[in-house]
Amino acid sequence: MSVDFETAVFNSLPADKGLYMPTFFPQIDKEMMSEWGKKSLSEIAFDMAYALLKDDISAEDLKAIIDEATNFDAPLHQLENDVFVLELFHGPSLAFKDFGGRFMSRIMAHFLKREQKEIQILVATSGDTGGAVALGFLNVPGIKVTILYPKGKVSLIQELQLTTNGNNIEAIAIDGTFDDCQALVKKAFHDEELNGKLNLTSANSINISRLIPQMFYYANTYAKLKDQFEELIFVTPSGNFGNIAAGMMAWKMGLPISRFIAATNSNDIVPEFLETGIYNARPSVQTLANAMDVGDPSNFVRILDLFDDQLPELKAMLTSYAYHDDEIKRAISEVYKTKDYVVCPHMATGCLAVVTDKMLHPNLEKTAYVVLATAHPCKFPDVFSELGIEIEEPEQVKEMYQKEKISLAMGNSFEEFKAFLMK
Ligand SMILES: *Cc1c(COP(=O)(O)O)cnc(C)c1O
Repeated sequence: MSVDFETAVFNSLPADKGLYMPTFFPQIDKEMMSEWGKKSLSEIAFDMAYALLKDDISAEDLKAIIDEATNFDAPLHQLENDVFVLELFHGPSLAFKDFGGRFMSRIMAHFLKREQKEIQILVATSGDTGGAVALGFLNVPGIKVTILYPKGKVSLIQELQLTTNGNNIEAIAIDGTFDDCQALVKKAFHDEELNGKLNLTSANSINISRLIPQMFYYANTYAKLKDQFEELIFVTPSGNFGNIAAGMMAWKMGLPISRFIAATNSNDIVPEFLETGIYNARPSVQTLANAMDVGDPSNFVRILDLFDDQLPELKAMLTSYAYHDDEIKRAISEVYKTKDYVVCPHMATGCLAVVTDKMLHPNLEKTAYVVLATAHPCKFPDVFSELGIEIEEPEQVKEMYQKEKISLAMGNSFEEFKAFLMK
């Protein structure tokens, strides 16, 4: 069943338990793309978003939303002649999830203003999602945000991003695991009394409005490299496979991309699937690249859908490699020593994937690899002190240390959480 964009944004999940996808992919005009070399990230973003959403949002409103949501850069850092890092960590939470968080919040606010409604977002986080949601929704009118995180189990910078905001953002430290936080949020969404009183909405990564803005930086990278290279291969460190699904949506709209490589940690469900044809979901294992510790990637069905579930077609476009923690550590040291560049554990899987892929395809010409740097390394400090690498913290982190941490401590009983929400 198809619904309009607004419904897809607020429902997050369709009733049939699938995921929302655009019903068709408008093709980006070739002439327009040839002009992109002269355009900024937010101008290119507008071209793509307008092609997709022109029946749902006026050009003027969409432009204002994008200018506000995409107000930081996604620069390329050259590592080798044919290898680039796409730095996606220059937003407020220092991770690529800022693109999704900021766009989603402003899209929601846009529709809410029209309907004079208020909503309450509930989100459970193991670290990175919560920061992007908190900072993405901060001071956005009509929306209150409650974030549950496992006490003592997120990094210091992640905790500061969750707890130093105030205003419409509320953080709760749950005495338990991420799964406990997730279970509380799920129960709340199913509780009739709560839903009768509050307009509860989710902000998780399967929301289609988080994927759309992630197409923008693939397009912007193409614009920057199109005159130097004929073929582009994007290497995306993947967990729930939303980021790479967005790249594939951009390709589906006509962006010239030769191939995608999904780099994973030991949670190798997708590389295994591409090799064997068997999708074996299983509990995730803990790794250094913990934002990718996913045992049943929620967005992978979107990728299958883009290829009409045809494995040979999918395999022509998608390659996937998996790496263990010891390989991740070695890659971080190696890149630091040889390139004087610090990569986070997630991005390290991408660097490893380039090495593997070059070995398997030694004679590629006029081809560039672009590795997506999904987070700033300072968000994952433990591994770097162990490796003896010092990281420079961005200015916004230094400012956060000055602010007061405010969070509510709570056990993991649903009654307590519900009573808190009801009052
Ligand atoms: C969320 C996250 C990922 C995984 O992205 P998906 O879209 O879930 O594949 C990778 N790296 C970092 C740093 C993240 O926060």
